[in-house]
Amino acid sequence: MSAGDPAAAGFGRAKKSLGQHFLHERAYIERIVQAVDPKPGDRLVEIGPGRGALTLPLLRRHGALTVIEFDRDLVAPLAAAAEGLGELTIVRADVLAVDFGEMAGGGPPLRLVGNLPYNISSPILFHALDHAGAIRDMHFMLQKEVVERMAAGPGSKVYGRLSVMLQARCEVLPLFDVPPGAFRPPPKVDSAVVRLLPRAPASTGIADQAMFAAVVRAAFGQRRKTLRNALSGVCDADAIAAAGIDPAARAEQLEVAAFVRLANVCPPR
Ligand code: SAM
Repeated sequence: MSAGDPAAAGFGRAKKSLGQHFLHERAYIERIVQAVDPKPGDRLVEIGPGRGALTLPLLRRHGALTVIEFDRDLVAPLAAAAEGLGELTIVRADVLAVDFGEMAGGGPPLRLVGNLPYNISSPILFHALDHAGAIRDMHFMLQKEVVERMAAGPGSKVYGRLSVMLQARCEVLPLFDVPPGAFRPPPKVDSAVVRLLPRAPASTGIADQAMFAAVVRAAFGQRRKTLRNALSGVCDADAIAAAGIDPAARAEQLEVAAFVRLANVCPPR
């Protein structure tokens, strides 16, 4: 163990079960901090600070930061590493149990940042979007393949349920790719950083979130089938036509706005 090795500073070994791949290449750390570009008064919240690769530069630049970390072994060494850099609030919790609305407390919306644990990245995204009113934006490192699916449009091979469910609720802006060698230990996959801008819940046009989710799930559950067949039991051909959509079309051809129209004309179940 060499001097300067984070393990020597009391952080211990990386835990695979918690998706721990620590960013160490300075150039990528700087690009993420620049992409976030915190301004005075911003309320930054980092998910999964780990050994502080993003935490410490963000704290140095912004002076205050709240972090949510599940691994209790990381809390004390992280607090020690951050000493004197600014006001670091460490919340030891499972991010999926954190109520961002409560955290925002009626104040300015939060800015979320994180090199996310890839094994639970989709649940984290949807959990955050359930609190869209409390969140101004998000900058996340994810598996590159997930970012491609999130940002895909109709006609793309990877356009699917994740693309529609996310794009209906936020703008998805892929920023840049990050190779495995930028992390320790390196993950088996390429990574990418994405910016997400949540839409105000009232502006999504979705009348009933549960119906919207059911329609999208059914439509892509059998993506090679026509909508008429894939949606049987959810929405009949007359309702599909009433939304201005050809019942013989396939889910992969439909724009996000068309899914919203479709869900809004399907009869309640
Ligand atoms: N931000 C650090 C970096 O870039 O080096 C660490 C990123 S690592 C990919 C993911 C981090 O998320 C780890 O610190 C891990 O312990 C933490 N984590 C895993 N599951 C979590 C959960 N459910 N809630 C909060 N943090 C979690």
